[in-house]
Amino acid sequence: MYSIGVDIGGTGIKAGIVDCKGKIIYRDQCKTDVEGGFDKIISDINIMVRKLISDNHIDKNEIKSIGFGVPSFINKQGKVTCVNLKWHEVEFVSKLKEVFSEFNVFAENDATVAALAENKYGSMNNSNISVLITLGTGVGGGIIINGKPFVGAHGMGSEIGHVVIGENIYDCNCGNNGCFETFCSATALIKYTQIILKDYDKNSIIRDMCENDLSKIDAKMIFDAYRQEDYLAKEVIIRFKKYLAIGIAGIVNTIDPDIIAIGGGLSKSSDIILQDLKEMVRNHILYKNEDFADIVVATLGNDAGIIGASLLN
Ligand SMILES: [Zn+2]
Repeated sequence: MYSIGVDIGGTGIKAGIVDCKGKIIYRDQCKTDVEGGFDKIISDINIMVRKLISDNHIDKNEIKSIGFGVPSFINKQGKVTCVNLKWHEVEFVSKLKEVFSEFNVFAENDATVAALAENKYGSMNNSNISVLITLGTGVGGGIIINGKPFVGAHGMGSEIGHVVIGENIYDCNCGNNGCFETFCSATALIKYTQIILKDYDKNSIIRDMCENDLSKIDAKMIFDAYRQEDYLAKEVIIRFKKYLAIGIAGIVNTIDPDIIAIGGGLSKSSDIILQDLKEMVRNHILYKNEDFADIVVATLGNDAGIIGASLLN
């Protein structure tokens, strides 16, 4: 038997046929036609998934389920509002059930789906209480308890990126100030670096790296500058890690997981991120002398979305 996982992102949609060992055996992808609207995106997914099945001569009866990861909260009625996709209360789950009526269809938030994959086949070793934190354009969170996604009583839990952990110099997209995501995402790193470079600093090597065009700064540049001991990059990364530790300590104080994995684009610099992080977290947790969660780097990378979606049931 096989399962299909579909990972819906703001720029691209990836689909894969996954075997019973969590291996993606066939895959395809297409652009997310955000301007085309909800119906166009669903139609593109339908075409891609059915082509994936027929091109690879898979018998429909061999497909146990089709799972979808979406970069948003799915409410109890299966409706989705997602700013990045320009969806406002679209009938996401019922539409998928209609389009794929001959299959078992499941859907969940993308970070939750990725956490499911990391827990079963990646970095989190089937631990009883596992948390994935994705550090990318935003900060996402997925919580897996005894092998099952935990999203709370109303489906809106595990939004780690929007837990308020301080007071920040700019507001979050969600309207609040001080969200985890405004300190620890790639966007946050870039924004903070730009602000300091613009207002105060003249000598950081980041200025050369971006050829004095601050809009060209990306997270990799900041980590590269850190490796070259640039003092501004150091200041930015120290601040980032300080808040990362505070955010993780909040998770430890609340649910005391066995393991916490760091994923997302920034995890490519996990050597810098994980260094001394556990001790920094310890300074902010309540029971400082106790054992607490291992903090590791996620291992499945971009495949976590497809694999995790295929595991939904
Ligand atoms: Zn927020």
